[in-house]
Amino acid sequence: MFDYADEGEGMHYEGYCIRPPSEAHSILLQVTLGCSHNKCTFCGTFTDKRFRIKDEETILSDIKYASRYMQHQDRVFLMDGDALIIPQKRLMWILDQIKAHLPWVKRVGAYANTKGIKLKTLEELIALRENGLSILYLGVETGDDEVRKKIIKGSTAKECIEMGRRVKEAGIKLSVTVLLGIAGKDKSLEHARLTGELLTAMDPDYIGALTVMFVPGTPLNDDHEKGEFVLPDELGLLRELREMILHTNITRGLFFSNHASNYLPVRARLPRGKQEAIEQIDTALKGGVRLKPEWMRGL
Ligand code: SF4
Repeated sequence: MFDYADEGEGMHYEGYCIRPPSEAHSILLQVTLGCSHNKCTFCGTFTDKRFRIKDEETILSDIKYASRYMQHQDRVFLMDGDALIIPQKRLMWILDQIKAHLPWVKRVGAYANTKGIKLKTLEELIALRENGLSILYLGVETGDDEVRKKIIKGSTAKECIEMGRRVKEAGIKLSVTVLLGIAGKDKSLEHARLTGELLTAMDPDYIGALTVMFVPGTPLNDDHEKGEFVLPDELGLLRELREMILHTNITRGLFFSNHASNYLPVRARLPRGKQEAIEQIDTALKGGVRLKPEWMRGL
């Protein structure tokens, strides 16, 4: 994460920007500002930004800058929150410019949400893939519709599954995140089971589990401070992770919980690594593995 605005020559970054951990070495091209949804109750990332699509002149200037100074980076990540929401014609133009000015780039990725995917037909997604878009990152968070409604995710589990499948059908890699703790203490295991079932139906290529972190100023943080939202404790979160993996039956993919917010890093190639991952969690539940201390956790 970084926070600076570059004046004149250079990349025209505005405000606080994020990218997935796997895009750490990518050329970060900010093509939109903020998130078009911007309502999820746990998320404070873009609350200070009003959503807009950046103008072509600025985007082209950044691509040209990258063509001069970023020749050793062969991936591009389109920021901010849900670049897929950009209308098809403009998005195709952006991919055209990347191809023309950064011919060494092998992969283009972006965040997406259910709404952004829904606005694209399968044929349009295929056209984007053929023009270089190769991976989309989708925040699934939970498969529990009651919780999805509460956190204002903006779609049902069924819609989320359908949109994830559309991405895969288009031949675009799908990387999703799920959120440990988001259902609170009482619904923890139900959320885990329903999320595992959603993942099974969606069949993504990568699944990253994060743990809820309270961000000041967000509705979830307010509920937490009022005692209306109670996060499971460390062992409760481990049980939740175990239950989720137990109910996740995908054809082939990577499940990882090595994000800084988690207490126990797990990395499993599914389906064959499932049993080993569960045994690792069971060992931790019995106290056989040291969990990450609170001060080392972060977003
Ligand atoms: S869709 Fe993503 S970026 Fe937008 S508010 Fe929700 S979690 Fe935050």
